[in-house]
Amino acid sequence: MGPASTSLEHDEAEPPANCGVCPRLVAFRADNQAKSPGWFNGAVRSFGNPDAARVLIVGLAPGLQGANKTGRPFTGDYAGDLLYGTLLKFGFATGEYDQRADDGLSLDGVMITNAVRCVPPANKPTGAEIKNCRSYLTARIKSLPHLAVIIALGRIAHESTLSALALRRAAFPFSHCGEHDLGGGLTMIDSYHCSRYNTNTGRLTTEMFEAVFAAMQARLTQA
Ligand code: SF4
Repeated sequence: MGPASTSLEHDEAEPPANCGVCPRLVAFRADNQAKSPGWFNGAVRSFGNPDAARVLIVGLAPGLQGANKTGRPFTGDYAGDLLYGTLLKFGFATGEYDQRADDGLSLDGVMITNAVRCVPPANKPTGAEIKNCRSYLTARIKSLPHLAVIIALGRIAHESTLSALALRRAAFPFSHCGEHDLGGGLTMIDSYHCSRYNTNTGRLTTEMFEAVFAAMQARLTQA
């Protein structure tokens, strides 16, 4: 497994696994490749069927030992345990989540992506890196013909999604479980990111996270 293996599969919505646009992230990928050559260590593609997705979940960036290791968004670390567990509970995924890209889990009507597709040091992408990767987020959003709801996990996902849609950030303040009518039948629902840090500190509880998915389900019913 390695970044070069998927470099021929990219399109406007999905960077090549060996994307070279952000020098700091390319160097970090190379460091990780040297330390852990069995890991994916590349730009992580979105997960889900674009032709079926009514919901796009936008995270921040791959976790070092999560998506960066396994090559599938939110797969392999705590954030994925909570996200995929919730998707299974609400009927938006089938199969069994087992922290591996080849666990056979499939998403039903949902796609998962990240605002930044490469793992950043200390989980903190720079403004320039977020901006560099936005063209992929924009193309991903625009390539979903049945998209009705975007769930933004965290403030950076929220703000980058607004910028991807050329909307003013000041008009849509971030708030957990806040719903924003983005026009054209598209709603964005905010959530605190489902990271271990946020759950350990009590900023996000399971009940709070599930409330976001209940709101999403209600929106889909109305759409
Ligand atoms: S973060 Fe995005 S733009 Fe930057 S190197 Fe990775 S895939 Fe390319």
